[in-house]
Order: sequence, then structure tokens, then C-alpha cells
Amino acid sequence: MELAAIVGERGVRSDALARSAYESDGFMLQREAPSIVVLPRSTEEAAAAVKVLRREGLVVVPRGAGTGLTGGARPIAGGAVLGTARMKRILEINPDDRFARVEAGVVNVHLTAATCSHGLFYAPDPSSQTACTIGGNVGNNSGGPHCFKYGSTNRHVLGLTLVDSDGEITRVGGIEPDPDGIDLLGPLVGSEGMMGLVTEVTVKLEPSPERVETLLVMFESLDACCDAVSDMIAARLEPSAIEILDRLTIEAVEASVLRAGYPEHAEAVMLVEVEGGPHEVDAIATDIIELARARGAFEARRTADDEERKKLWAGRKGAFGAMGRIAPDLYVADVVVPRTRLREIVGVASRACAARGLKLSNVFHAGDGNLHPNISYDRRDADEVARVLAAGKEIMEACVAFGGSLTGEHGVGLEKQGEMCLVFGDDDLAAMSDLRAAFDPHGFWNPGKLFPVRGCREIEARPLGSEAR
Ligand SMILES: Cc1cc2nc3c(=O)[nH]c(=O)nc-3n(C[C@H](O)[C@H](O)[C@H](O)COP(=O)(O)OP(=O)(O)OC[C@H]3O[C@@H](n4cnc5c(N)ncnc54)[C@H](O)[C@@H]3O)c2cc1C
Repeated sequence: MELAAIVGERGVRSDALARSAYESDGFMLQREAPSIVVLPRSTEEAAAAVKVLRREGLVVVPRGAGTGLTGGARPIAGGAVLGTARMKRILEINPDDRFARVEAGVVNVHLTAATCSHGLFYAPDPSSQTACTIGGNVGNNSGGPHCFKYGSTNRHVLGLTLVDSDGEITRVGGIEPDPDGIDLLGPLVGSEGMMGLVTEVTVKLEPSPERVETLLVMFESLDACCDAVSDMIAARLEPSAIEILDRLTIEAVEASVLRAGYPEHAEAVMLVEVEGGPHEVDAIATDIIELARARGAFEARRTADDEERKKLWAGRKGAFGAMGRIAPDLYVADVVVPRTRLREIVGVASRACAARGLKLSNVFHAGDGNLHPNISYDRRDADEVARVLAAGKEIMEACVAFGGSLTGEHGVGLEKQGEMCLVFGDDDLAAMSDLRAAFDPHGFWNPGKLFPVRGCREIEARPLGSEAR
């Protein structure tokens, strides 16, 4: 077989059982087995495989670890999956110029692990960082707790290598801070696998801070916790991460193997990370605690050592998994509001779920105004699924009405393509589509994602609630 000759026997998965492992990503509501899975070992193999797949008339979905939560890496009927699972080499670490060059399948946390002996780290740290890949992070312009200080993936990508739909290899950007010519990285980072396969990424590395401390601040009310975050932003305090976990999340984490020492009697906790020189850390931590107390925090703890700090973060980062104790499935919404409106949107989510008899928990990147209202459900119950999706839609509509956006970090994928019309009109979407076509004139990469299936004017003309998902 021609593909096996390019990527080796182990790089082609065509039997039904192997293909079934790729049926969905973390958005479990829509599944579709690919007709074939191809796993190249290098950029050159990927380029050669693309030529064959294109000639055979297949469309292709790029895939990293498949941890995405919006269906971006879900296969397309009759199409292929082109995955980076065998492209895991860290090609270069340059401590002097502070960059690293990696293959797209490198797992996020492995990059930081490889750079820490140089006193450096890779800043974007999705909670899925022990599994997700740098290529997937580029696909979704991913965030993470520390993106509050350091910014999302797009702030850290210096250059990348792209295989296009003709199987040609293009290098975009470079190691210099401001490469000549039009910035093509901008549209590529966050393009959700719709403009080509990223095979290599050059990223910025950050110097490790002299001292890091995590604060665990406890509240009797989630509203008060949200208000304290709004105050911290307004007061221009500068921690590196501000996260919130509510009571249901705390209970789930504390009942799991990730038990972190969160207080189970709190309605909400705030995890705040502070870094810098010792005096700076002291000063910021003191200000934050004072401000939180003024908003009703009943206790604030500063981590004594690195082990305690790591435990607190492991609980936060494993929170989605811990929710499996409550129900078999979890719908993870991902929306953004201006940070002065945190309390209001948490209220909207709570009412949207209560009205539909749904169980809601909240764990989110509060400092960025990036909420994750999580709804526990059972996907075998069609009525419950419909209620979950209706609640998700109501939350998204409220975010847009509050001046926020549909996604903070998980992308649009299949989940939110209908809701794109809440933010954009047909003309905006046509302009985006033209930009995409400049990279992929054949509609070869991940077709049917991100853009609404019908035009916005047509959707608007339909009676509310009649839009099929
Ligand atoms: C428990 C859990 C916690 C999470 N926490 C966070 C978080 O804190 N922050 C956050 O931002 N996200 C989070 N996510 C979502 C997800 O992990 C991220 O979106 C992640 O970046 C996806 O990486 P992946 O390798 O799994 O990509 P995939 O899911 O395989 O793909 C994601 C998208 O990128 C495209 N893509 C993948 N690889 C490439 C490539 N090489 N070239 C071109 N396109 C490509 C795919 O087609 C798809 O559209 C979480 C998910 C889970 C399950």
C-alpha cells in the first residue's frame, strides 16, 4: 500500500477497531469514524502522505492528542485523520536566544520539563498539558491558568512549518522577534486545523521566576469570590494566575485521588499564583489577601513549600476528570466576559441549569474572564442532552450580550458553529472564509467546522429554537 510505504506499516490504521479510537475528541456528543488514520514520523512523510490522500479524493482532519472539547479533531465522514502522535521530537533548545523548536506532536508539559534545567519554561499551560500537543495548542490558540500573565499560545509562537493541501512544505515566521513581510502566523494560530497541518513549531521560552507562591483563598459565596477577582483586576494587581473552583468542584476533587487540601466547607476558593523576587511576592500576596478579605474571604493560606503548591495545582488541573464521579459525561462550556461581569454570568449559568434540572459546577480562569460552566450529564439520555445544549446556548448568548465572546481557548469546532452568528454576520464570515481559502483553496483541511452550516441571515429568519445542531 502506498501510504504504508511512506509512513511505515505502523503509521497506517485502517481496521475498524483502530479507527474507532479516533471517533471523537473530548466533545463526545458527535462521533464519526475516519476511513483511515495516517501517522507520519516527519514533515516530509506528512507532505508525501497529503499528496496521496488528496489524489484519492479524501478530506483530512489534523489531530494531536484529541483532547479538544469542541469537536475540532472529530473525523469527517469518509475522510482521513492525519495525526502527529509519532512526531514527538524536541529538535532544538536555544537557551541564549530563549526559543525551542519542536515537532507538533510534542506533549505540552514535556517541553517545559526539557527546558527547566536551563532556567526556562514554556508558558501556555492548558489543564490538559500532560496529554495535549503543541500542534493542538496552535490549532486552538490554547490558554491555561498562567496565560493571565503570559498570554495565550499566539503570544508564544515565533514560527512554524506547514504542510499545505498540495503537499508543499512552507515555513512561516522565524526566530527573530519581528520577521519581515506580512504576519502569516496571526491567521494560522487558532485556525483549528483548517489551513494545513502544522508539523514543527518554534516557540518562545520564558525565564523561570526567582520565587513562586500560590495562595488558597476561601469564600462563603461564589459571588463574593468573583467580585474579589473583579477588584483585583481593577486594582491592577499582577499575579500570574487567578483561578476559581466552586463547591461542587472542590467536593469532586477532594473525593478523588487528586485530593489537594481544598476546604470542603467553602462555597468557592480562589487559587492565585504570585511570582518574582521575594519582596515582590510578599507585597503582591499581602495586597491580594487584604483585598480578598474586604470582599469577605474567611481564610487565606500561603503555600509553605513547592510540594503543597504542586498539589493545589494538580487538583485544579485534574478537576474536569474528577467530575466523572458525578455523572458519566461532562459538557465543558468555554466562554468569556469582561471581568467586571463575572458574578452576573455565573448567575446566568446557574439559572440556565437550575431551570432545566441540570447539575452545574464551575472551575475557571477567572483572571481572564474565561468561564467554564461545566454541566454533568449522561449522553445516553437524549432529553438531558437537549437540555444541556439549550443551557449552553443560553450561556453563550448571555456572554455575547455582556460584551464577551463565544470561546476563550477551546475553539469553535462543531460545538459552536451555529452560535458564530451571534457575533458575526454573513459578510464577516465570508471574509474569514476567503482568508481560509488563501491557505486551503481546495477545502481539503477539516471542512465543515467553525463556519455555520447555513448562512446567518437564514438562521435569523428561523423561529427561535428551531435551529438543528
Ligand atoms: C481535562 C481537559 C482540560 C483542558 N484544559 C484546557 C485549558 O486549560 N486550556 C485550553 O486552552 N484548553 C484546554 N483543554 C482543551 C484542549 O486540551 C486544548 O484545546 C488542546 O490544545 C488540544 O490539543 P490536542 O493536541 O489534544 O489537539 P486536538 O484535540 O487533537 O486538536 C485540536 C484542534 O487543533 C487541530 N490540530 C491539532 N493538531 C494540529 C496540527 N499539528 N496542525 C494543525 N492543526 C492541528 C485539530 O484539527 C483540532 O481542530 C482541556 C481539555 C481537557 C480534556
